[in-house]
Amino acid sequence: MISVIWSDRHSKVRWQDFDQDLYVGATVVRPGQDPYARNKFNQVESDKLRMDRAVPDTRHDHCRHKQWKSELPASSVVITFHNEARSALLRTVVSVLKKSPPYLVKEIILVDDYSDNPEDGALLGKIEKVRVLRNDRREGLMRSRVRGADAATAPVLTFLDSHCECNDHWLEPLLERVAEDKTRVVSPIIDVINMDNFQYVGASADLKGGFDWNLVFKWDYMTLDQRRARQGNPIAPIKTPMIAGGLFVMDKEYFELLGKYDMMMDVWGGENLEISFRVWQCGGSLEIIPCSRVGHVFRKQHPYTFPGGSGTVFARNTRRAAEVWMDEYKNFYYAAVPSARNVPYGNIQSRLEMKKRLSCKPFKWYLENVYPELRVPDHQDIAFGALQQGGNCLDTLGHFADGVVGVYECHNAGGNQEWALTKDKSVKHMDFKLKPISKDICNIYCIILKWEQIESNSKLRHVGSNLCLDSRSARMGGLTVEVCSPSLNQQWKFTLNLQS
Ligand code: UDP
Ligand code: MN
Repeated sequence: MISVIWSDRHSKVRWQDFDQDLYVGATVVRPGQDPYARNKFNQVESDKLRMDRAVPDTRHDHCRHKQWKSELPASSVVITFHNEARSALLRTVVSVLKKSPPYLVKEIILVDDYSDNPEDGALLGKIEKVRVLRNDRREGLMRSRVRGADAATAPVLTFLDSHCECNDHWLEPLLERVAEDKTRVVSPIIDVINMDNFQYVGASADLKGGFDWNLVFKWDYMTLDQRRARQGNPIAPIKTPMIAGGLFVMDKEYFELLGKYDMMMDVWGGENLEISFRVWQCGGSLEIIPCSRVGHVFRKQHPYTFPGGSGTVFARNTRRAAEVWMDEYKNFYYAAVPSARNVPYGNIQSRLEMKKRLSCKPFKWYLENVYPELRVPDHQDIAFGALQQGGNCLDTLGHFADGVVGVYECHNAGGNQEWALTKDKSVKHMDFKLKPISKDICNIYCIILKWEQIESNSKLRHVGSNLCLDSRSARMGGLTVEVCSPSLNQQWKFTLNLQS
């Protein structure tokens, strides 16, 4: 027994002594192979970098003078991965060890979610503090993270994706917030590691996490008032309705008390929505901590398989979150993504019981107190959201009453592109009603401000004139009404149709 412990300790190496070339060299992209094929990022560029390459310090100047509490709880860093590029995984591990005060990182738990090559993870077990667990079947990131969390021995959990690079003093400000209040769940600002050339680029500090009724995560730019309010203290924590999900710190006991993750979610997606609703509704809070910065490789596609298909898995996970946490507001999700209704979501009984046991607040409370920026359809609305034509959206172009509307590339940020069709048949942006002003018809019809959707909600027809909203003259002056036709210029679709 003693000799085993002895030999184990002595087989470990400091990260500085880990043989990067041997480890990464075994899986390089061969000449003629597509460098994007395996990871959906440029593996050739990733492999070129040293495991401890320098990255720019992207923090606000104020962070550099800040002192962190000297007594902070240690953390277990949990990193799950499935077929991650070795160079990216190694850089994640090394950056944690290099950029954290050693006493704050008790261990790094790598959960290999059944990668094709068990050595990708196993070989990293040689590095100081690294523990490797391997699933004997694909579990998906939720169950893998819970497995890592269950194995953790430190009081605080830090979750990271397997393609991150931690920046200077990333960990102290996160741990400080959690040490002060265990119900805070905190994220760094997530900097961007470019998926093509692996340049490390600082992200804006004016973003919060949010979503639309399709329940897909997006970044929301802070409102002007919110940004103004922060001018006095630009490094204050930012309350956020949603976390991106891959990178966050949470007290371990609180993670357990609050129900870890939904163990019936698979592969990827929806779990960040679920944990965000859960934390807020059950008494905690979510914050982005500006002095903490961690880079992440954002990519456009998933490099791994989704057993059952990515759309189905994502809809199933999202439905589980919506059915448990959103009360009747889940119907706005179904209005935005009608196909989700047909995806079975399994049993949610135990999650509902947990919600009750924890006396969690209703979704209405969350909307009013945590995410007032999200526009909620009212009972008068038949259809709601952006009015889309391909990649373009009906847009006020900043004009107000009696201005001409046009189209502009859809930006998914509401504002000038937010419209509703109401039960009394008006198409409204705030209190302004859409009105046709075509010369030929105006003498008789322009006083009528009524519209209806026709042909399976694919067109908007003006009541009275029976002409259809048309974008053919959008570039010269604005939208018009024209004789209804199959033209693509007359195809308009609201984000949400509440009567279908
Ligand atoms: N992951 C996993 N098992 C899976 C799918 C993903 O362990 O079945 C890991 C993946 O390797 C990554 C993390 O979960 O470390 C998040 O996935 P990804 O980076 O693809 O999500 P994104 O950042 O693009 O949202
Ligand atoms: Mn990721």
